[in-house]
Amino acid sequence: MQLVMSSWPEVEAYLSRSKAILIPVGSIEQHGPTGLIGTDALCAELIARRAGDEAGFLVGPTFNVGMAQHHMGFAGTITLRPSTMIATMTDWANSLRHHGFERLYWLNGHGGNSGTIQAGITAIYHDTTFAEAAPVRCLSRNWWELPGVGELIRQLFPTGEGSHATPSEISVTRYAFPESAKTAELSPRLAPIGPVFDAIDFKRRFPDGRIGSDPSLANATAGDMLVAAASAALIAEFEAFARG
Ligand SMILES: [Zn+2]
Repeated sequence: MQLVMSSWPEVEAYLSRSKAILIPVGSIEQHGPTGLIGTDALCAELIARRAGDEAGFLVGPTFNVGMAQHHMGFAGTITLRPSTMIATMTDWANSLRHHGFERLYWLNGHGGNSGTIQAGITAIYHDTTFAEAAPVRCLSRNWWELPGVGELIRQLFPTGEGSHATPSEISVTRYAFPESAKTAELSPRLAPIGPVFDAIDFKRRFPDGRIGSDPSLANATAGDMLVAAASAALIAEFEAFARG
């Protein structure tokens, strides 16, 4: 069940049986020469919708632009400043709480969002305290850290996973959007690794946008397995969170 495809009476009926909503969080950022700009938003949305459809819980609109300043050296990237993301998450949470939602599960698709999401959750709790509003609980999870998914990634890609433009995330988009698959010469095949600071430094360290990865390993079969494993784990975790 998707919020954007529901009418208000349907949302009201949902609220009479559950106060929990799942919000996919993504980023619009370069993913190397072969990865889609929307990879992080698309992966989180796909896994969230699969889980929501199978288990009957509500999936909110995708919070699709995140914290991607370090990718700004590459065409197409859009970023929020951290303070904008925190403020926007707070506005989303206040709106949902106003209607009676009490459990907000943020399924994240971009590692670079993690610190800002945690700060956003702190700001949401701050508002709850000072508004003396109804209690709200948040949980944030990176989809590749759902129970069992990390092990599956290590089995599928024992080498070449890296940390950005990874074969696992690109496999998910290959599986879901085969018509949008890209090919390019990757040189070196395994991208360099290193720390992440600002966008100018990022492009100097990682000239084609990848970090430590070999996305030529990506394939639709792996993507299918990853979506199945992540959505099954997500259903279990979301249902426990909704009850708690
Ligand atoms: Zn990504």
